[in-house]
Amino acid sequence: MIPSILPTYNRAPLTFVKGEGSWLTEADGRRFLDMGAGIAVNSLGHAHPDLTKALVDQAHSLWHTSNLYNIPKQTELADALVSQTFADTVFMCNSGTEACELAVKMARKHFYDAGQPERTEIIAFEGSFHGRSAAGIAAAGSEKMTKGFGPLLPGFTHLPFGDHEALNAAITDKTCAVILEPVLGEGGIIPVPDQCLKGLRDLCDATGTLLILDEVQCGVGRTGKLFAHEWSGIAPDIMMVAKGIGGGFPIGCVLATEHAASGMTAGTHGSTYGGNPLGCAVGVAVLQHIADTDFLEDVSRKAGMLRQKLEGVIASYPDVFECVRGVGLMLGIKCKMPNTDVIAACYDAEILTVPAADNVVRLLPALNIPDSDIAEAVARLDRAAQSLVA
Ligand SMILES: *Cc1c(COP(=O)(O)O)cnc(C)c1O
Repeated sequence: MIPSILPTYNRAPLTFVKGEGSWLTEADGRRFLDMGAGIAVNSLGHAHPDLTKALVDQAHSLWHTSNLYNIPKQTELADALVSQTFADTVFMCNSGTEACELAVKMARKHFYDAGQPERTEIIAFEGSFHGRSAAGIAAAGSEKMTKGFGPLLPGFTHLPFGDHEALNAAITDKTCAVILEPVLGEGGIIPVPDQCLKGLRDLCDATGTLLILDEVQCGVGRTGKLFAHEWSGIAPDIMMVAKGIGGGFPIGCVLATEHAASGMTAGTHGSTYGGNPLGCAVGVAVLQHIADTDFLEDVSRKAGMLRQKLEGVIASYPDVFECVRGVGLMLGIKCKMPNTDVIAACYDAEILTVPAADNVVRLLPALNIPDSDIAEAVARLDRAAQSLVA
């Protein structure tokens, strides 16, 4: 019999009832060190007092009015994002996949209104992930996500990752945009080299193509910059943000330049909940912490410390681990053993990690994880690895 919850997830037999900082308490009382942060969502850990206060204060005054009226917290969040980034304008939604929907619509509408309605095609990369909506799965294109769900949204071309010649050849006078994650998340924590991002930006500029960056996972301080593309010095035309910006409250947004957003006039897009006061109040509080030079420098320092300690564990268990890669606190350990075995051993050692493609175990801790918890995480990973070779 089908369970009451549609069985689209294979869940671990764990039930968390309380969270605090980087720790989660299981129903049976065990305390797990959370190195997954709800898949890069709980950017300031669980139950951060400032986020709780922002949410509760807003809840006491006003929950929802709709986008028929001005929403002060939405304006505050949009202003903060515009002042901190390349963007001139922001649309608020509720998830990463919704951000993908708008990014695709915005790119196509831009060229439609610019008198080039034939420019509808979008180039994406194999191994990427852009969410589970119809546009999201068509954009990523992997059979795992698309099989059985056809006909797919047309207009996407998929290229192998890192093939500049193929990219050069693929951009035509029908191309409206290129979409990619500066650091592939689900694909196995694969950073796109700065040179590739620069080359891609140049190619987009030369052809008038819009560059869409999906920073749903790698954005909002995760790599030690507010947004991952900042490391390369380039800027996108359109950017998708979600996960970490809400710190656990479901919000997403699309950031864009005035040029890219030119077609998005009144009535062309909308969302009932997007930009809701509760979510935006939390988003403002999250940004107040993360969009800060000292905070971001500390992310890099913590990341360096975690990475160095991880190298030691990896070297100690060559039959379990192969290497570590990633940027900032977005790290992937490529495994020799099946990553699912490693993650299960981690559960036994009471530490939470997240799988990714290419046999990778992801570490995506809270960005403010205390140094002592980093040391504890490495000790627990060591214990998990030990149990696999014993
Ligand atoms: C998680 C993710 C999405 C989808 O976000 P949802 O909030 O789950 O819809 C899109 N792109 C990337 C890179 C992601 O990691």
